[in-house]
Amino acid sequence: MNSAVERLPDGPYDAVWASPGRVNLIGEHTDYNDGFVLPFALPHSTVVGARRLDRPEWTVTSEQTGETVTFGPQDKVDGWASYVAGVVWVLREAGHDVPGAALTVASDVPFGAGLSSSAALECAVMAVLLDLAGIDLPMALRPRLAQRAENEYVGAPTGVMDQSASTLCREGHALFLDCRSLATEQVPFDLAAQGLAVLVVDSRAPHAHVSGEYAARRRSCEEAAKILDVPALRDIDPAGLPAALERLDDEVMRKRVRHVVTEDQRVLDTVEALRAGDARAIGPLMTASHASMRDDYEITVPQVDTVVTAALAAGAHGARMTGGGFGGCVLALVDADRCGEVEAAVRGAFAEAGFTPPDAFVVTPAEGTRKVG
Ligand code: ADP
Ligand code: MG
Repeated sequence: MNSAVERLPDGPYDAVWASPGRVNLIGEHTDYNDGFVLPFALPHSTVVGARRLDRPEWTVTSEQTGETVTFGPQDKVDGWASYVAGVVWVLREAGHDVPGAALTVASDVPFGAGLSSSAALECAVMAVLLDLAGIDLPMALRPRLAQRAENEYVGAPTGVMDQSASTLCREGHALFLDCRSLATEQVPFDLAAQGLAVLVVDSRAPHAHVSGEYAARRRSCEEAAKILDVPALRDIDPAGLPAALERLDDEVMRKRVRHVVTEDQRVLDTVEALRAGDARAIGPLMTASHASMRDDYEITVPQVDTVVTAALAAGAHGARMTGGGFGGCVLALVDADRCGEVEAAVRGAFAEAGFTPPDAFVVTPAEGTRKVG
């Protein structure tokens, strides 16, 4: 049973929908280079119960913040409720007649840990409002709308991965997403059947300078694509990488390009291994991805490097930071019966280094947006 559903106060509700948080199995900083990503949904989710109102007004209460915010169609909302108001705004912009509603939100997705609580909230709100309105908007069209709410209403410049994962992921699968065409493929990732699990370790490293560093990486990639005369770095393949690197004078830019081009290939190789039913084979690709983020993209911090090193030493098949970087979570692919040992090794390494103790939990790929009541 989903614990967020249990946290939702008793209704009555006219509809209840849930959307999950996500982690990215592999493919970091490839999204804005028109490349590939491979997220899967977490068992953690955000649940929204809705009751129809007979006037064009929305109220939203969050169990997490303990606050209720009320807004009308013309209001500009700030703070956490902007994710909700942004969805109302974008649906109306797209011409959908969204009825007024009283919304209640409960969630067990940690906020701001890189697990995409924001997309979980947007996608669940969108689903429940469309259900109330009786609008059958195809799931495939929803991620772009939710992304637009976050970009244009909330003002956060995110890619489309989070909303795609939260909306479209399937239990036991990872979602292979081409960020240029938005084509998707459900790739079997049934860990339990292969005696495997993914251990998620939240490094709890304090995020600092994240948005400035993100903007700098993005700029570097865009400049490199211009110099190399391609629409995006996605258009350089591994065979063309040495020649491309020779055309770049700047050592830092060369490293950034090498990360993006090799990371896209690692996503393709991971998908290939999973299609062949061999989840264990993706371990070395995960570890290589981490090394590339550490050495070429330079977005890791000592805490996440420590998690990776300790997990591998304790027998993980592979481990890598997931998310934008400078902190956040690490994924370790481990034999299901060794999760405890790997977690203990990571905790020991953190204690020795004097870091804030990490959070850790085991996940298996869960279902995307779904109706729960
Ligand atoms: P992430 O998406 O990685 O968790 P973000 O900064 O993108 O981090 O989004 C986190 C923000 O989303 C929170 O600070 C809060 O404003 C909002 N949010 C997410 N879930 C909820 C919720 N259940 N209740 C209220 N606000 C929420
Ligand atoms: Mg977010």
